[in-house]
Amino acid sequence: MSHLEFAAETPACASDGVWLTCIECGETFDPFAAVRYTCDECGGLLEVRYADLPTWEDFEGRGVWRYADALPFEAGVSLPEGDTPLHEVPRMETAVGVERLRIKHEGMNPTGSFKDRGMTVGVRVAQEVGVDRLACASTGNTSAALAAYGARAGLETLVLLPKGKVAAGKVAQASLHGARILEVDGNFDTCLDIVQDLAGRGEAYLLNSLNPFRLEGQKTIGLEILEQFRREEGAYPDRVVLPVGNAGNTAALYKCFRELVESGALDEEEVPMLTGVQAEGSAPMVEAIERGWDGIERWDDVETRATAIRIGNPVNAPKALPGIRETGGTAVAVSDDAITGAQRDLAEEGVGVEPASAASVAGLRKLRDEGVVNVDERVVCLTTGHLLKDPDAAVEAGAEPEPVPGTTEGVLDHLA
Ligand SMILES: *Cc1c(COP(=O)(O)O)cnc(C)c1O
Ligand SMILES: [Zn+2]
Repeated sequence: MSHLEFAAETPACASDGVWLTCIECGETFDPFAAVRYTCDECGGLLEVRYADLPTWEDFEGRGVWRYADALPFEAGVSLPEGDTPLHEVPRMETAVGVERLRIKHEGMNPTGSFKDRGMTVGVRVAQEVGVDRLACASTGNTSAALAAYGARAGLETLVLLPKGKVAAGKVAQASLHGARILEVDGNFDTCLDIVQDLAGRGEAYLLNSLNPFRLEGQKTIGLEILEQFRREEGAYPDRVVLPVGNAGNTAALYKCFRELVESGALDEEEVPMLTGVQAEGSAPMVEAIERGWDGIERWDDVETRATAIRIGNPVNAPKALPGIRETGGTAVAVSDDAITGAQRDLAEEGVGVEPASAASVAGLRKLRDEGVVNVDERVVCLTTGHLLKDPDAAVEAGAEPEPVPGTTEGVLDHLA
């Protein structure tokens, strides 16, 4: 894994052993002295770096902040987040045909998606740099999480959503938690372009996954998966399968694994294969890998029922593509029907997820059918958001209500 090495020396700009490094040119920056999302020199993505990387013994407590030694702060604005279940799904294991399959259900976070893990750290950094307005572009869940964490921190929040393309539960959350919601005439990528401009002009602090601190919080998904899987299965998983939108999670998991290898907590051979899944109508990462890994070509027209991953320009691709490649993983595109099928299968085992989340399971099934995934693999599928996020999709995928008369006899007649 050539991408693994971290610079040995702590630069003079570090603050308490934490700094930012450009992944393209290597320039380093003080992490909190000024608000900065990308490299001043070349515009490349920034990554948070640490003078000391922790190992398993250093972790104690619960939730995201259990992993404080791997984060830039000891604590943050917390609701609290993390400690999500790693479900067994024996019927699905048999149906898909892998030796061991677990579902890491991130829909069980406080606002119902993994975005909370990023926000608890991101909003803490916003407090550190001293901003008064937070903002994000969102396919829905980022706005729900930002609204809740912003409210908790007593900060004004602004969210830009693609008009008509955000699931009802997510808008409801952003609204009730008091965010100002701007419905943009355009898709997610347009919303992000605008928010980046606003942030660049100092109008707001950007909390999309372009913000490197959010990915630090999301790293804890990987730490939890490894700890839970090892405790319950006696080994680490061979593969982690996850839905890909902006590829922030893919980037965050890769960083998690690299840091563990660097600290000696994980052997290189133990690093799980990162496997991304996109919807067929929105699959620029899959296309980039098929074309030879050199980078993303933005899709201007994207469409899928899995609105959380309806993204044509995954901003974290420069971090995520090496992650998929260096861990020996791959990426695959699945149809909306396959996504709904997987959503039903998960629901049949009591695990309620939104469509984008089910993409991970649909992708695993496809890769297993194609023989890319072997029968003897230990696999974790990440389900990113809760069923109630998108009630319309759930109603459409589920059973029809049956009208009956308002009497016991009438109900019994109907059942017979
Ligand atoms: C944000 C989100 C994704 C996409 O995650 P990325 O880190 O942007 O790839 C997938 N599923 C759900 C439910 C989400 O909210
Ligand atoms: Zn740079």
